[in-house]
Amino acid sequence: MAVGRTQSEQGVNTTEILVAVVRERDRADYWERTQSLEFPRETVFVQFVPRQAEEEHARYHPEIPRIDIYRYGCTPVHVPQCAVNMAAASPCPLDELISLVHELGHHESKLRGLFCSPDNAKLEQTYEEEIRAWSFGRTILAKTQYLDWSAFEERERRALDGYREGLNLPASRAADIETRIRRICEAL
Ligand SMILES: [Zn+2]
Repeated sequence: MAVGRTQSEQGVNTTEILVAVVRERDRADYWERTQSLEFPRETVFVQFVPRQAEEEHARYHPEIPRIDIYRYGCTPVHVPQCAVNMAAASPCPLDELISLVHELGHHESKLRGLFCSPDNAKLEQTYEEEIRAWSFGRTILAKTQYLDWSAFEERERRALDGYREGLNLPASRAADIETRIRRICEAL
């Protein structure tokens, strides 16, 4: 694995990877191509929505299922959009790609019957779910031409540290949970 090398050093276009993942996973695009409403389980609705805050990257809505990706200056949600075209016009493809695969990681967790919504979870369960989403997200991203693993890991570390602090989990306890959950995810 080319750890630490950026996409541009490798000549691989991050926007193209983002577009490919959206095309593969977006239910609206699937319907456009097949006129079928029998969506493959791994698909979700993908939409880009206006972003209000720096920490607001993306959100998974398990009941639909839908992933919202927050983007500054994005057209309002009531304006019809094509997620593939929105991805192709991404102003920050690396950020949006990492956000998307993380949320797809939550969807994978749901498909496996493991998903735990932060609304009714205990502290440690919320942290466990975030680790699952990053682990499954990494697996999804590894199936593409993505190479900039240091960027992915930096975002992952920042997000998990933020959760750990927000949930007031002691660092040693968080590390134990992380080791246990990653081992489970890798074995699946
Ligand atoms: Zn998450």
